Order: sequence, then C-alpha cells, then structure tokens
Amino acid sequence: MGDSEPTGLVLQVQRMSTEDGPGLRSTAFLKGCPLACAWCHNPESIDPRPQIQRIGLRCIAASTGDGCGACLRSCPRGALARAADGGIGIDRSACDGCGECADACPAGAMELLGERMGARALAAELLKDRDYYRRSDRGGVTLSGGEASAQSSFAFETLRLCRESGAHTALDTCGVVSWATLEELYAQVDLVLYDLKEADPERHRAFTGLDNALVFENLRKTVSLMRTSPMPAALWIRTPIVPGATDREENLLELGALIADLAPPRLERWELCAFNNLCAEKYRRLGMEWEFAQAPLMRATDMETLAGAARRGSRGLVDVSWTGSTAEASEPASIKAERMGSP
Ligand code: SF4
Ligand code: SF4
Repeated sequence: MGDSEPTGLVLQVQRMSTEDGPGLRSTAFLKGCPLACAWCHNPESIDPRPQIQRIGLRCIAASTGDGCGACLRSCPRGALARAADGGIGIDRSACDGCGECADACPAGAMELLGERMGARALAAELLKDRDYYRRSDRGGVTLSGGEASAQSSFAFETLRLCRESGAHTALDTCGVVSWATLEELYAQVDLVLYDLKEADPERHRAFTGLDNALVFENLRKTVSLMRTSPMPAALWIRTPIVPGATDREENLLELGALIADLAPPRLERWELCAFNNLCAEKYRRLGMEWEFAQAPLMRATDMETLAGAARRGSRGLVDVSWTGSTAEASEPASIKAERMGSP
C-alpha cells in the first residue's frame, strides 16, 4: 500500500446483491453517516468509529450462566462488567472500539464492527466477483453505508479503481454532503442512488436529525450537472416507506412534485422501499433501543396507494415502482384468508 493511499472504515462487503442498483452487484457498506434515521436498518453504520457488538447467544455465559471472562480481562478501558444475569455488560461511553475483547473471546461473541482498509484492497475485494456481475445487465459495484461520501477520498479512489477495471459503479447517497465532494465523486459514478425521505423539513429533522434543505439543494445541483455532463450516467431516486413516518400520501405527492419540477435527465426510476424490521436484533447487539422494533410491515395495498400518489405527484413523468416485503407475505394463511373475507 502506498503512503498516500486513502484508507477508510468498512463495515461489510456484500456480494451478489440485487438491491443496490441494476444487475448483480458487490456492495461495500462504509461506516459513518451524517443522518441518524429513526428507522435505519443498518444502525451499526451510523457511528463513524469502530464499535463492538455482543452476540449474547454465542457467549459461554448463555449456556453456563457464567461467562469465561476472557473479554473482561482483556479490556484496557474497564468498559466491560459482569451483568446481573451472568452475561457481559458494555459501558459504551468508556469503550473506544479497540477490539481487544473481540480478539480475546473464544466464542466469537464479541465482534468488532468496522475494518480499516486501503482503497486498493477494497477495490480488489469488490472486483473479485466481476466475472459474475458482468454477465448481468449493468451489474457492478456499489458504495453504500452509512454515507459513503462522508469518507470522500477513500470513496473516490475506490470508485476510480473499480471503473478503471471496467466495472459499472453506483453511489448510494443521502445527499447530506458538501456539493464540492459530491460533484467530485460523480466523475467516477455511473449511477446515483439518491435518497429522498421526507418532504416536510420539520418531520425530516425529527426523524433523521437534520432538515431536508441540503438534500434538496444537492438534488437540484445533481440534475443541473446531469444536463451538461455525461456523468453520472443515470439516476435512481429512492424513498423509504416507513409506517407512521414517511408513509403519507401527502409526502409522496410533494416529493413527486419536486421531482417532476426538476425533470431530471436520465432519471430511470423512483423506487419506494417498504420498511422491514429484520434489523431489530442488530439494535439489541449494540445495546440500542429501537422505536420501530414493533412497527408493522407495510401492506401491499398501502404500497400500491402510495405508489399511485407518487405517480400523481410526479405527473406521470417518472417510472415509479415499489420493493420490499409486505405484511401479507409474512402472515399465516388463515389470518390472511380471514382478513380477505374468505370463509
Ligand atoms: S472494544 Fe476495547 S474498549 Fe471496547 S469493550 Fe472491547 S476491549 Fe474494551
Ligand atoms: S470472552 Fe466471549 S465467551 Fe467469554 S465471557 Fe466474554 S463474551 Fe462471553
């Protein structure tokens, strides 16, 4: 690795993804995000520092009620203590993510989230499956997060190396980043996956921590750039549909009007992504409360209604689709039949 090579904190590389752009993709999730969405399904990606998570079932304490204590002895910060149930408690204000406990734990119950990598190493990892994703329509690599652009030099160099090797590149962004950074990254991006969550600035602030002014401003600038530059070559807009939060027709009507007024060139789709609660265990492992832990899945009929609002709001100018699991798919057949009015 060269001295000047940018490095970054990587949470995970996911292979054969079908949810982060077209075709088959290898997706890198980088750590750190300027937003903290209340419904986030990657809570471990928000903090820009390494974090420790404890997988309670793996701990020897789970079977003996008395953990081996190797983690306790290894922690240089005194951040671990025996909990009342015999398990291990973590004082997260004292933990600095050094990872000593993860190295010491014989059961893999302590895991360090976030690995420092050089751009060349990450690009090589992402390019390992290029023979597979090249066979799919525009398959390639995606940088996601967290917010990948928050580690801008690392993201730029990784994207550059992947493009140089002929890979289709995508950047997933929440839009909360300086325009100068975004514009620089776009030179290496074939497809932008741009998140629009909430039209109301105060609701946006309440649910994510910041209002939506910069998100909208950067979308306007992205559209202006695309009118004069071949890069980014394509744009997808994505909206998470979260029960009790973004799932209002009014929200989709307003976001749709904004998109139609901007009339982005090469906007290929507006995707409504149905909330899922599969990440509840991630919050538990990080010792975090999650206000959406009991939130229901969206119903397909409601997703159809919201997609209709999105189409009306965008005056039929945009290809709107929705994705994700819905409540109907997960409920027992007998309940489904009763709900549908079957005998
Ligand atoms: S990551 Fe380091 S500081 Fe944090 S609990 Fe483990 S050993 Fe202690
Ligand atoms: S080292 Fe691992 S198995 Fe032992 S007490 Fe700590 S978490 Fe449990």
